[in-house]
Amino acid sequence: MTAEIQIRDLSKRYPNGTDALKGICLEIKKGQFFTLLGPNGAGKSTLVKIMTTLIQKDSGSFAISGINPEINHSKIQKIIGVASQDNEIDPAEQVENLLIFQGRLFGLSKPEACKRANELIVLFQLEKERNKKTSTLSGGNKRRLHCALALVHHPRILFLDEPSVGMDPLARANFWDIITGINKSESVTVFLTTQYLDEADKHATEMALIVAGEIHFSGSIVGFKNMVNPDEGLSLEDSYLHYVKSLVNQEISEN
Ligand code: ADP
Ligand code: MG
Repeated sequence: MTAEIQIRDLSKRYPNGTDALKGICLEIKKGQFFTLLGPNGAGKSTLVKIMTTLIQKDSGSFAISGINPEINHSKIQKIIGVASQDNEIDPAEQVENLLIFQGRLFGLSKPEACKRANELIVLFQLEKERNKKTSTLSGGNKRRLHCALALVHHPRILFLDEPSVGMDPLARANFWDIITGINKSESVTVFLTTQYLDEADKHATEMALIVAGEIHFSGSIVGFKNMVNPDEGLSLEDSYLHYVKSLVNQEISEN
């Protein structure tokens, strides 16, 4: 498998002085289902925003499919799909129109864009919302729409920043069927952040743990569980809690 995402020594300091990322190194292979885990404020969304060119890094380098996204921005936009945590969508626009508009932005003809919008509405079970203004959608339906918008142009790499927040259990199951389906059948690389560790445990195979802007572990989920406790067969959630609690305790004893 070739490296689809390569991150070397990446750092980001916000103007207020927060060091959000401190020398991140990661490699994600084509077709992998990768999850970036870490507490609130660890730097996950900052990394996603840099990778998807919404904000700029301070130092280090990164490449997507061997391309430097900061130089070849338009080429990258065609191969990535992004459902970011704070996606801005036009509140006055109707769901179907927004999906058609997105398709047109990606160069689809009007009939193609209409066909794709309809496919995604059916796939994400948004039929009842088709003609609703996006401002009237529930939180979970809005997240489904964000993800549908991210898939309009059949991206090869999908960035999902806490995608399933607010979805009801059925919507969540349907959502993961869609994502695991395209990961397996189309080898779409998935870069997921989530606080639902059962979802990460079930669907991802590779992971990294970020705490206070630094990577503490990167490798397979099985490898992480073995590192935390080789004997007990803990879930990812238990392993994560065990590891992060020990970090907090270590910090307390050092201070
Ligand atoms: P996560 O997604 O892991 O919860 P973020 O990447 O959103 O974390 O935030 C990482 C750190 O950067 C936090 O300390 C957060 O408060 C800070 N931060 C995020 N966005 C900004 C911003 N626009 N300006 C200043 N600080 C920010
Ligand atoms: Mg975040």
